Amino acid sequence: MRRTDPSPSRTDALAPDDLFAGQAGAGCSFAQELPPSFYTRVAPRHLREPRLLHVNPAVAALLGLDAAALDAPAFLALCAGSGRLPGVEPVATVYSGHQFGVWAGQLGDGRAHLLGDVAGPQGRWEIQLKGSGRTPYSRMGDGWAVLRSSVREYLASQAMDGLGIPTTQALALVASRDPVIRETPETAAVVTRIAPSFVRFGHFEHWAHSAIEQAALLDYVVAHWFPDCRVGPSADADRPATACRLLAEVTRRTARLMAQWQLVGFCHGVMNTDNMSMLGLTLDYGPYGFMDAFQANHVCNHSDTLGRYAWNAQPAVAQWNLTRLAESLQVLGCLAPDLEAALAPFESVFLQAYYAGMAQKFGLSDWRPEDADLGNAWWKLLHEQRADFTLAFRRLADTDGDARSWLDLFADPQSARQWLDRYQARLAQDPRPQPDRKAAMDRVNPLYVLRNHLAQQAIQAAQQGDASEIDRLMERLQDPYAQRPGDERYAQPPTADTPPVAVSCSS
Ligand code: AMP
Ligand code: MG
Repeated sequence: MRRTDPSPSRTDALAPDDLFAGQAGAGCSFAQELPPSFYTRVAPRHLREPRLLHVNPAVAALLGLDAAALDAPAFLALCAGSGRLPGVEPVATVYSGHQFGVWAGQLGDGRAHLLGDVAGPQGRWEIQLKGSGRTPYSRMGDGWAVLRSSVREYLASQAMDGLGIPTTQALALVASRDPVIRETPETAAVVTRIAPSFVRFGHFEHWAHSAIEQAALLDYVVAHWFPDCRVGPSADADRPATACRLLAEVTRRTARLMAQWQLVGFCHGVMNTDNMSMLGLTLDYGPYGFMDAFQANHVCNHSDTLGRYAWNAQPAVAQWNLTRLAESLQVLGCLAPDLEAALAPFESVFLQAYYAGMAQKFGLSDWRPEDADLGNAWWKLLHEQRADFTLAFRRLADTDGDARSWLDLFADPQSARQWLDRYQARLAQDPRPQPDRKAAMDRVNPLYVLRNHLAQQAIQAAQQGDASEIDRLMERLQDPYAQRPGDERYAQPPTADTPPVAVSCSS
């Protein structure tokens, strides 16, 4: 929802209204249930002249906030860093991590404030500000986030949710004129995001040498989000077994998440262990990219000079990251063979989810072992011809009669035709009627994804104070499968004269 109404220029003068009055109450389970060593109470910095550029009513509804609440000055105050959840002091949490394969030590929320958690109609949600100022964990950083990267996080959260991929969600985007120095001068913005929990692998890595804290963290995470992993009546004696069960569940969730990323051509860009969610959510959108022209080793992050986080490396990187998580659990007395056993199902869970997804994308009722060849030939074809990832899948559903629009995606239609013949021979063995198949394929192969150039257009308009392009994109991304007449440009790859968008870690 675009906000066109002028916002108050100073939110710090506003009384913190009780936005969440009448609900089961706001709190901060992270700070209430974990020792003080896990966080620092620190106030977000207020943005000056904040402007609520955009808000997502569907995400607000998860918190029990209706349209009227989103117009309240208290809502802007909350999202601009000056408001508070009733009775809750914001905190920044500490974590560590491996960045680009190297142990980086303490990181933590260098520019994020956890405002607390609230009860929504279907469960509790943590509310976090990103770009809300320095914290004790900021290291050399300024605590800011620029409008450009905030728009990207805001849009990507919706894009992934619209695709049915687990993700943190973005509630609101607040812009300001506060200057921020990056490669060029930019302005500051804050994204308010929500998730059941923002706990990362990095939180566990931080306590890898401290059994007392690791036990507290394990108990906290298991009690809230993984009650089925709890083994036995004795928390102390049973903790190693509980930790292994937790690891097994995080392994399965992460494996399924990787399959989902691969199937939509999503590259995260910075799969450091501190950007991996314990809940299996896509977390921390930075220099991510949805591929246009397919390249198996596509690297979306310009800072990733060695291609560590290339598209085709993502599942293996996730496995590597899970192994770092496993190592951090050894302090609880978990034995290496038990941890290895918990990690072992990654590949089979990933492949099962990936093949099931490929079968759906190809419109097949099942995936047979011999289909692996067809799948491999598909990727090879797309890679060699740099065909558009999204449209190649989407138009496949229309190749039954006139295959021209699909063949047009390939520089060498001859070899595409050869693949298509194999595919159609396979379809002939599949009992589903073609109209049903097409309808099913159109429900899993999106037409609209968040292409970099589309995000860039929305950013450029937002930098001029115009959120209308964000609004239009958000609408398409909410239902990326339904074709909207007149929306062709949102489905198209960038034209040859579109300036390439370079995204890096600088944000
Ligand atoms: P990222 O690579 O964005 O996941 O960030 C890694 C760590 O650096 C996280 O702990 C962030 O909070 C922190 N960080 C990133 N950018 C900034 C910034 N501008 N100021 C302070 N901390 C930052
Ligand atoms: Mg991060």
